[in-house]
Amino acid sequence: MNHPRDLITEYGLTPNKALGQNFLVDDSATELIVRTAAEPGLALLEIGPGLGALTFPLAETGLPLAAVELDKALAQILRGRLPERVHILNADFLKVRDAELAALPGFSEGVSVAANLPYYVTSPICMRLVLSELPVRRMTLMMQKEAAERFLAGPHDKNYVPLTVLAQWLFDVTPILELSPASYWPQPDVSSAVLRFDRSENELPAAMPRLVKAAFAMRRKTLVNNLCALGLTKSGAAELLGAAGIGPGARAEELSPEDFARLAVLMG
Ligand code: SAM
Repeated sequence: MNHPRDLITEYGLTPNKALGQNFLVDDSATELIVRTAAEPGLALLEIGPGLGALTFPLAETGLPLAAVELDKALAQILRGRLPERVHILNADFLKVRDAELAALPGFSEGVSVAANLPYYVTSPICMRLVLSELPVRRMTLMMQKEAAERFLAGPHDKNYVPLTVLAQWLFDVTPILELSPASYWPQPDVSSAVLRFDRSENELPAAMPRLVKAAFAMRRKTLVNNLCALGLTKSGAAELLGAAGIGPGARAEELSPEDFARLAVLMG
């Protein structure tokens, strides 16, 4: 694989900082991500392929592969250099409809996501992936270390946020690698980590996403107060908590993902 600096120069471009373009230049990290993501029977979806550090080795697995890249120039370079069977979508991943991806060959059976995520939009992309209607079975995601800590936090931790609860309910999350800025070109100011997400057996109760978001809206407020935003009265909210075995003075940060799921089922 060419160094991204050579490719960027060849095409007369410069890395776009605003799009989080820090290209991976670490062969052992690349190998680990590709080995983790590639699983027979699962189609591969890459977000932000950039200059193809992960895309080329992912394509070599022979599995169905699609990649969504926002930068038009990079998407064009990839189209010109990858086999035709690899689908390069020039789009903002946050705006691509699940149905469009599900229609790609192999994508309705099971999907494995691989990404070195753009740092400025990591949380919305992860939320979109966690709640995706695609059959996402595995995700191998590289992100800033601070972002990774949110997926590993437990109750009472300041990093415990709605994304933590939803991701931990729907996936088993395992840290598999930490990287220093030297693994990228250009080098970012921060360290990074790679997390592996394996789909759990849990179903998502329909009310869980809005329940979790409302519960954390005012972190220092009690759940009873925060749940009023969902149209419940204070006594109705307290009654609901009681039915789920949760005390009336509880705050969102004290509840486990299991507590939230139980509460969401009761909300219907
Ligand atoms: N995968 C490449 C690598 O590892 O070298 C590039 C990773 S770079 C950290 C993030 C990539 O995401 C960039 O190519 C950037 O243009 C792209 N990107 C940024 N925002 C995006 C979005 N909303 N949707 C899709 N791609 C995006």
